[in-house]
Amino acid sequence: MHKYISRVVLNVCPKCKKPVLAHTVCKNCGYYKGKEVINVLSKLTKKDKKAREKEMKKIEKEEGKEKPVTMEELSKR
Ligand SMILES: [Zn+2]
Repeated sequence: MHKYISRVVLNVCPKCKKPVLAHTVCKNCGYYKGKEVINVLSKLTKKDKKAREKEMKKIEKEEGKEKPVTMEELSKR
């Protein structure tokens, strides 16, 4: 399991906090390096779009409360 993780570099999307492959556009929100590369929302239906927007707002709210990842936590890997 650990070997697998070390081979596949996973980043966390800064926009939606979902795990994304490094150097890959986030499939969830279409952002890459802080820029919107794919307009994911435009491909969704109205209903899905609303749900996604709601999810994003929720994440943004939680972000304010959450503490940033410390070096200690990173070294545990
Ligand atoms: Zn994302």
